[in-house]
Amino acid sequence: MQEFDVIVIGQGYAGLVAAKLASERGLKTASVEGMYAGGLVMNINHLDPAPEGVEPVGAEVISTVAMANMDAGIAQVMAPVSALRQGGAGWIVETGEGPLTASDVIVASGARYRKLGVPGEAELFGRGVSECADCDGPMFGGMDTVIVGGGDSAYQEAVALAQFADKVTILMRGDGPRARPDLVEQVEADNKIEVRTGVRVTEVLGDDTGVTGVRLERTDGGTEELPCGGVFVFIGLEPVTDFLPGEVDRGGDGGVVTDAKGATGQPGLWALGAVREGFGGRLTDADTDAALLVSALA
Ligand code: NDP
Repeated sequence: MQEFDVIVIGQGYAGLVAAKLASERGLKTASVEGMYAGGLVMNINHLDPAPEGVEPVGAEVISTVAMANMDAGIAQVMAPVSALRQGGAGWIVETGEGPLTASDVIVASGARYRKLGVPGEAELFGRGVSECADCDGPMFGGMDTVIVGGGDSAYQEAVALAQFADKVTILMRGDGPRARPDLVEQVEADNKIEVRTGVRVTEVLGDDTGVTGVRLERTDGGTEELPCGGVFVFIGLEPVTDFLPGEVDRGGDGGVVTDAKGATGQPGLWALGAVREGFGGRLTDADTDAALLVSALA
């Protein structure tokens, strides 16, 4: 079994930065990733705000840190993590390429977009239902589209999607957005974007050609069908914690509960980035949190 001082699970932005800082501290570090580096940040063409001194493009930011980590000799383990348990040098991380052990493990496995869970959403995914405006936007040229949600993701993606689509309607179940004021301003200034409050999407409608519309329920009890060719769902994030043992505390949103430095209740087990409850959500928050966490390692 390969032994390290620190194993970082996840090569999203937070995990990459933590691995970099741990290696700079002289700790023998492994950086584990099941799919490809970057996580959700890879799909964002305009990072706002971006970390200082880098191009504000998700893929650029990720490749810069990932390449530097490889050059620094950080062990790259490209295999999914199936389990984490106590043992060996402190913790054993089971991966598709065999077990690894370290006294400290930093869980930076990130989050995935939450689903609405309504009929049609899963069936039409990839045929009009999407979760990436920058990647899929060009396919919606000349179409009416909807975005579900009212947070930073919904507002940021609406602005990205409006570069391609004829119209973007943001659908919110509440009576106002939770997005940052500057993102709200950008949406208000874009005459291709309309915002509707007090509406729930109860079904994604479609046929052999893909999405044809959404069924809505209004707070006044009425229902309607809104024709559209694209449905983008941004209703929050679901932390990726499937491989974690039951004794690791999770909060109400499913995120790992930590103290301000990222320590979980388990000795030597840390959490960082979107997998952690209460994460601030920006790359600059990941930078600050990673620095605090790595400086707290023994
Ligand atoms: P949030 O949890 O911040 O917002 C989710 C939104 O979806 C809320 O408006 C919520 O509305 C709505 N919602 C939740 N559940 C449902 C549902 N079942 N049906 C309809 N609407 C629903 O998620 P985001 O993905 O927007 O952001 C996640 C994190 O990432 C945040 O920390 C954010 O700041 C960060 N982020 C930062 C960016 C940046 O810095 N540029 C860009 C994007 C994200 P309601 O009020 O009704 O609950």
